[in-house]
Amino acid sequence: MRVTVLGATGSVGQSTLDLIGREPGRFEVVALTGGRNVERLAADARRLRAQVAVTCHDGLLGELRDALAGSGVEARAGAAALAEAAEEPADRVVSAIVGSAGLVPGLAALRQGTTVALANKETLVCAGPLVMAEAKVHGATILPVDSEHSAVFQALTGEDPAAVERVVITASGGAFRDWPLERLARATPEEAATHPNWDMGQRITIDSASMFNKALELIETKEFFGIAPERIEAVIHPESLVHALVGFRDGALMAHLGAPDMRHAIGYALNWPDRRDLPVARLDLAKVGQLTFAAPDPARWPALGLAREVMAMGGAAGAAFNAAKEAALDLFLARRVRFTDMASIVAEVLTTMSSRDGLQNAALSLDTVLETDALARARANEAAAALAAG
Ligand code: NAD
Ligand code: MG
Repeated sequence: MRVTVLGATGSVGQSTLDLIGREPGRFEVVALTGGRNVERLAADARRLRAQVAVTCHDGLLGELRDALAGSGVEARAGAAALAEAAEEPADRVVSAIVGSAGLVPGLAALRQGTTVALANKETLVCAGPLVMAEAKVHGATILPVDSEHSAVFQALTGEDPAAVERVVITASGGAFRDWPLERLARATPEEAATHPNWDMGQRITIDSASMFNKALELIETKEFFGIAPERIEAVIHPESLVHALVGFRDGALMAHLGAPDMRHAIGYALNWPDRRDLPVARLDLAKVGQLTFAAPDPARWPALGLAREVMAMGGAAGAAFNAAKEAALDLFLARRVRFTDMASIVAEVLTTMSSRDGLQNAALSLDTVLETDALARARANEAAAALAAG
């Protein structure tokens, strides 16, 4: 099987390479892409005998070339090279870049009719209707790799979509689930970047603490499965063992359980439509003892309410929401805004852009999405400056 991994040096990317490395001879690695971590990228490309390695930074081409000298792996750099790598013939393209930067390369793969294992949820949040339509036109399949969506996908296999009454995705509650509310404003990036159950990239871990990750996933559920927003729920489940549940019209609720290990969802997408052995821990339910669930507190996690507004708005609202969130997260990481300011900034951007920039009426093209993304980042910085001015 020919595989390309976009974002190979990240958390999902490395889990993917772990699976690939465990079955020598089964996979033919076409392209691996990464960012600044040229050494990691080169070492993996050598070890897995990739045809091409691409860094998204033009300036790092020389460094990547040097690191690959004598390996037979071709070095490339830059955004165009990244999209080209995504277009190389492959049986699976794993889309695991973080942020809206994953949209263009993922779309490039879909336009070749390639089966895309999609971890980059931003692709669907920013441009869901466009991406789903393009996939259809080009006969491409999208397999969800987000654990909740993989769980829903598996629970739906063999079922009539018309019989689905609701979808419930679970959320651990992240780092601040049990913090006193008044302490949240003082939370540091280091505190937000620890997760109780999952080992993930820094950005998605902080998004889990703010619940922006779940907010993105509500939208992802709507776009990918075509389910009405009022039928999609999020529930707090601190153990992270039930990943999602699908409720049917006869009252049945099908749950997907498993250890919190991304190699399950990634492996499922690599092996689909088959199931094969995967190196994930098996649950011993007697040892687990109990599973707990609770309704999310809107005061602690305003991001969930914002996702509802975005789903109601439609148009380019998802692109603005995601970009404003990314910009707000950058500001939080730079310690220029507080943890709790992130939601205020995103709310402000949505309000401004829906009244001034006609967000909900935008016809969705790649250009509109990219323009909206850039504008929302600028608006988020304006909103942060206004906050700072007090
Ligand atoms: P990460 O930060 O660990 O890795 C990101 C990867 O993207 C790296 O390879 C980096 O070099 C590359 N990258 C970053 N910016 C780029 C840019 N502008 N252009 C090209 N490449 C760029 O991220 P991650 O945690 O692996 O998450 C990747 C995606 O998968 C995200 O969309 C995330 O929401 C989703 N996801 C992750 C997990 C998880 O367990 N980590 C679970 C579900 C979904
Ligand atoms: Mg998830």
